[in-house]
Amino acid sequence: MDHFQHRDGILFAEDVPLPLIAEEVGTPVYVYSRATLVRHARVFRDALSELKQPHIAFAVKANPNLAVLRLLANEGYGADVVSGGELTRALKAGMKPEDIVFSGVGKTHAELQQGLEEGIGQFNIESEEEGYELAAIARRFGKRAACALRVNPDVDARTHEKISTGKRENKFGVPLDRAAAIYTALAKEEGLDMRGIAVHIGSQLADLEPLEAAFGKVGALIKELRAGGCSVTHADLGGGLGVPYKAGEELPAPAEYGAMVTRLTRDWNVQLMFEPGRVIAGNAGVLLTRVIRVKRGIERPFLVVDAAMNDLARPAMYGAWHDFEAVEPTGEKTIAHIVGPICETGDTFAMDRKIDVLAPGDLAVFRTAGAYGATMASSYNSRGFVAEVLVDGDRYAVVADRIAAGAIMDAERVPDWLIG
Ligand SMILES: *Cc1c(COP(=O)(O)O)cnc(C)c1O
Repeated sequence: MDHFQHRDGILFAEDVPLPLIAEEVGTPVYVYSRATLVRHARVFRDALSELKQPHIAFAVKANPNLAVLRLLANEGYGADVVSGGELTRALKAGMKPEDIVFSGVGKTHAELQQGLEEGIGQFNIESEEEGYELAAIARRFGKRAACALRVNPDVDARTHEKISTGKRENKFGVPLDRAAAIYTALAKEEGLDMRGIAVHIGSQLADLEPLEAAFGKVGALIKELRAGGCSVTHADLGGGLGVPYKAGEELPAPAEYGAMVTRLTRDWNVQLMFEPGRVIAGNAGVLLTRVIRVKRGIERPFLVVDAAMNDLARPAMYGAWHDFEAVEPTGEKTIAHIVGPICETGDTFAMDRKIDVLAPGDLAVFRTAGAYGATMASSYNSRGFVAEVLVDGDRYAVVADRIAAGAIMDAERVPDWLIG
């Protein structure tokens, strides 16, 4: 459920009409609903209510806006970060260091050090090599780093290959059949407090079976480790729950996920941790755009909008579907291609899509753009960075300014020796 609904023929975000935001902030612009974010955060937490004090860390990469992170911190969420930049953001947004988990296959020496200095709650180690490097840094600082070992369970998450992370050939985690040996070896390092296992098999998962298969393997590994004399007190089950991108699409509800986790982990006797991203933020945002022109095509018209692949990369990157609708629909429908202005054929949001009839100057939204939207934006074609707005009831705030192409250019130099 979300808070983007038509009222008297106009699409609102909560109690704010979208034409007002377009007028005052300009387009394209991401619009997030506070009520939807809060609702999703609570629904997910409630789904895990049978568990003993689960730790929930929002996957910052899904939506790293400081206001969004602050809102989630207020809901008792921690953060799952995958870079030093995300760690800095999470702290700036008010997340407690001990509630922060650091994931990622390529944490640099500087990033490992930053995590230690900030006193974060847990490092999710993705290789034996990383473990030894962290151990050495921790020893030098006279600290012990709390760690989980991320395993690659070799499970096909049955999602888009670019967001599948738990198959043998993927770069993430250590192979399951070597996990016990690596865990045992790292547990001997005085700089490390090896305390758990982590797993994350992919994103936008449309069914629970692959997750259940992966968690089953984690449970068996925990038993094996304990039988071998290792201590395991934590298990981080990652994120991955999918969200509906098409009206009417059925996906597993957080409650079903929670029931599955509760059943599977009953005798694990660990502190469970979670890293949801998309399921919290996805349907809490839309990308508001204005039609530039309607261009006659050969078989279908091209609806050229002012949002492009640099603002919302998912269609170009993953062939992803985003529902598209007019802010003030007339009721008339047509079939058209929806494209942005960028000079790439990949800058196509949809082909042969049945959509509301729109004219130049009209407003429309791409739905379900709250996760992996603004965070993936670039300034390709010198278009500047898209703005972000957070709505709360009948008020809204610009939570990220539009960064104009000129401001980006300010960081560039022409060396003297090129100026003749
Ligand atoms: C991306 C990511 C997540 C979040 O995935 P969602 O599908 O958005 O829930 C969680 N954990 C890790 C390690 C990730 O890389």
